[in-house]
Amino acid sequence: MIRPLTRAEIRRMKKLWAKVPPITGCKGLCWESCANAPMHPVEARYLGAKYPRQTGGVERLLELPILGPRAETLEPADCPFLVNRRCSIYEDRPLVCRLFGQPLLGHLRCPYGCDTTHKLTAQQGADLMTAMAQAGNEVS
Ligand code: SF4
Ligand code: SF4
Repeated sequence: MIRPLTRAEIRRMKKLWAKVPPITGCKGLCWESCANAPMHPVEARYLGAKYPRQTGGVERLLELPILGPRAETLEPADCPFLVNRRCSIYEDRPLVCRLFGQPLLGHLRCPYGCDTTHKLTAQQGADLMTAMAQAGNEVS
């Protein structure tokens, strides 16, 4: 049985999310990228418990911590949270979705020219990924 995240664990995860600077003038045009978005275990536990219908639940997300692949084939498929070409869980989207569009690494830079209020360095982006990977990993 996977225990639910504690409030402190959820707070810690959200603090890491909040470290990603907001993007100014987002045009919301990159919805084609909303497929096979990977997440960290703590995010899988949070999203699986909060949105069981769209994700298939915590166990499934921990087994395959990717939003959107066709379960049987791993073929790319739209993220279940993509509704009318928009993220329907914007406040709860995983770290990787928050980093997409950030100018910290060439391949994550917004393909439509949007920018951020302040910039993360590549090292800060990597540190956030590491901290998230370590947050709330114990699943029993
Ligand atoms: S990459 Fe980010 S900033 Fe650019 S359109 Fe997509 S969501 Fe908006
Ligand atoms: S959670 Fe939102 S931003 Fe992330 S892949 Fe799904 S629809 Fe896109």
